[in-house]
Amino acid sequence: MFILILGAPGSGKGTQGKILAERLGLPKITTGDLIRTAMKQDTPLGVEAKKYYDEGKLVPDSVVLGMIKDELDRPEAKTGAILDGFPRTAAQAELVDRTLGQRGQRLNHILLMDVTEDELVRRMSARAQVEGRPDDTPEAIATRLQIYQRDTAPLIAHYAQRGIVHRVPGTGTVDDIGREIKRIIGR
Ligand code: ADP
Repeated sequence: MFILILGAPGSGKGTQGKILAERLGLPKITTGDLIRTAMKQDTPLGVEAKKYYDEGKLVPDSVVLGMIKDELDRPEAKTGAILDGFPRTAAQAELVDRTLGQRGQRLNHILLMDVTEDELVRRMSARAQVEGRPDDTPEAIATRLQIYQRDTAPLIAHYAQRGIVHRVPGTGTVDDIGREIKRIIGR
């Protein structure tokens, strides 16, 4: 089973994705974490990504597509995975569709984390105090929200045509939201 968690930055994708992955015993593929690790290790990919990441811009598809392909091709992800933080662009969505399609698979559920913009900004600003992520500055937060609306939100319509998009109210406790997700996917 392949489940995509889609939502604006700060909408709780990572938190719910982790819970879901553990419950279903599936690997979670998180492009943000992969990029952060690459940056920390100063790999060529990390060095390239950093120019965009710190400002809150998307790392270009030329960098990210290969990484996504490698992750989906890993043996652990052969029968299912939780996708967190990608696809974020039309080209990434095409790659995911094509890679799974060639294996006779497809995305089964899209969970759309629905949180108001005020709440998103509040959460990311609070997180900045704790984690000090370079992309949690006010400017980078504004950029990330804009880019989400421009590049990623259109994917909702693409998947909605297939009838696999479920809107998850993203406010409430972590447990409440987890229970709602369990109800939606039926396990
Ligand atoms: P958030 O959803 O809060 O923005 P992420 O960890 O998912 O947190 O992403 C942080 C940053 O990592 C993004 O702003 C972008 O620079 C980069 N990034 C993560 N995933 C992708 C992706 N699929 N394509 C391009 N850039 C990405």
